Order: sequence, then C-alpha cells, then structure tokens
Amino acid sequence: MSVTAATLSPRLVKLTPRTGIEVRRTLPHRDVRMIGAWCFVDHYGPLSGEVNGEAGMSIAAHPHTGLQTVTWLLEGKVEHRDSIGSVQEINPGELNLMTAGRGIAHSEMSLVDSHSSSVMHGVQLWIALPDAARQMTPTFEHHGDLPRFNFQGAEIRLLMGDFEGHRSTATLFSPLIGAEISLPAGTTIDIPTRPDFEYGLLILEGDDVTVNGEGVARGSLRYLATGGLPVSLASARGARVLLIGGEPFPEEILMWWNFIGRSQEEIIAMREQWQSSLLTGSESYPAFADSLGARIPAPEMPNIRLEPRGPQR
Ligand code: MN
Repeated sequence: MSVTAATLSPRLVKLTPRTGIEVRRTLPHRDVRMIGAWCFVDHYGPLSGEVNGEAGMSIAAHPHTGLQTVTWLLEGKVEHRDSIGSVQEINPGELNLMTAGRGIAHSEMSLVDSHSSSVMHGVQLWIALPDAARQMTPTFEHHGDLPRFNFQGAEIRLLMGDFEGHRSTATLFSPLIGAEISLPAGTTIDIPTRPDFEYGLLILEGDDVTVNGEGVARGSLRYLATGGLPVSLASARGARVLLIGGEPFPEEILMWWNFIGRSQEEIIAMREQWQSSLLTGSESYPAFADSLGARIPAPEMPNIRLEPRGPQR
C-alpha cells in the first residue's frame, strides 16, 4: 500500500500483564510499518500516582537486539540499568539512546522522590539497525545537553540528526531525524523537509493541532511520504509534537517481542539466547543488579511464520 499522507490512530496496548499500564502505540501500523528506520512508537501518560500498587512505570530486565531504543520523557524520572554496566537517571529534555546491536538487556524504573513529579509522561521509540550495524557490540548513550533553539517562534529540542544548521551528537546508523517541537499558543511553523525523507508527527500534547490544515488528535501520528511535501504545523492553544523522519528503510525486517532480526530462524535463536540467560545471566546477557529483580521471560513463539515488514512501497 502506498500513501502520501495518513493519520495513524493509536492502539491501546498493555505493556506488561503485571503492571496493567496501557500505552498508545502508533507504529508499527497496518498502513505504515516504518517511518525511515523508526519502527516502533509508544506514547504513555500523563498518568499519576500508583498503578496496581506500583508508582509510575517499572519494567524489569528484558533484552533487545538489532535496534536502538530512544527514551524521551515529558514528565517524571526514570532510572535505566543494563547488562553492559550502565546506570543512568533520565529527566525530561534528556535523551537515553541504547544501541542493542547483537544484544543487551535493560530495566527501567520510575523514580518518585520529593524532587520529581509523580506524573509519568513519555515516549519509547525503536530504530531498526541496518544489516551492517546490527551485530555490533551494544552501547548506551545519555545526552543531557541536546541542541535547543527557537524556530519561527517554536522551541525545538533536537534528539537526533540535523535541523536548520543544528546537529545532535546522538549516534545514527541511517539518515534520520528526531525532534521535539513546543508550539506556544497561536504559533504556526513551516517545517523544512528533505525530499528523500518520510516523516511522522506525533501529537504529545494539545487538542487543536493541525498539520497542513488538517486536525490531528492528541496521541495520533500524522504520516507524510517522501517528496519534500510542505509541512505547516499550527496550534491556537499550544502543543508539543514529536517529529520523526528518515530515508525509507531499504531492508525487510522481522520484529518479534523485543527483537529485530531478518529471519524466523534468527528470531528463534535470539529467543533461546535470552531464555538461557534468565536465571544467572550469560556471556550474551551478563547479570546486573536492579531493585526490580527477576528477568522477564520471552513469550512462546507463535506457531506461524512471522510476517516481515519493511519497505511498504
Ligand atoms: Mn526495553
């Protein structure tokens, strides 16, 4: 299916059966599977207080392969720990970027203390790694000083890539952009686009956002195909929008649970590698301490062939 523009409504997905927290998932979507290398978009909150007896959002240790995870908060505070020894607190306006390569395990725990809001609001995104990078040694980056600038009256925080002469130092493996746009009330901006990029605009906050004159509800993702289409973004009452984009990803990928591979056999092997590290850790997924304890086991593989996703054109 080939579309030039589409509004993708979110699906509600329970993140873990245990916590019961629901996220709004806009990618992958039936009509648009990826936007550049961006292949997964979850938006959660704002939610406050306890959910099923637990404060905020806490996810015990689980693995990733073949992708980068992007953690971006609008409110709240999260501690990241992983199997290469990283321990990193993240606050709103900062970027956690984990490059899983051939495999990394991590846990994420909400921190609720007197210095931070008890409200959780954020996004979790995945970026598929191209074949040349997907077996690399895992790395973790924290960016606390991202480029931040005014553009036509809006405030831009550049997570990844280039925008109007500014550049994020976050590590990319394919041409892409990620930016948060804060629109004060009554602002309209014209976003410069690259003809070789496709784009998505996720409405994080605001109930009257228009993209090229068309209303887009909070939580929805407006998709724009390649071709350098103009993008006019406006809000009378003020909004925050996440802009993602990139060159259409040229490879077919297989996404299953927290893994990205290229074949069913590969995914099965990735699953086995994680399952054999559940109790004591392994060379692939060394043990690390956190207050959440046990590692999350992989679900059973379905008895069907996994469906590849990738170039939708
Ligand atoms: Mn994760």
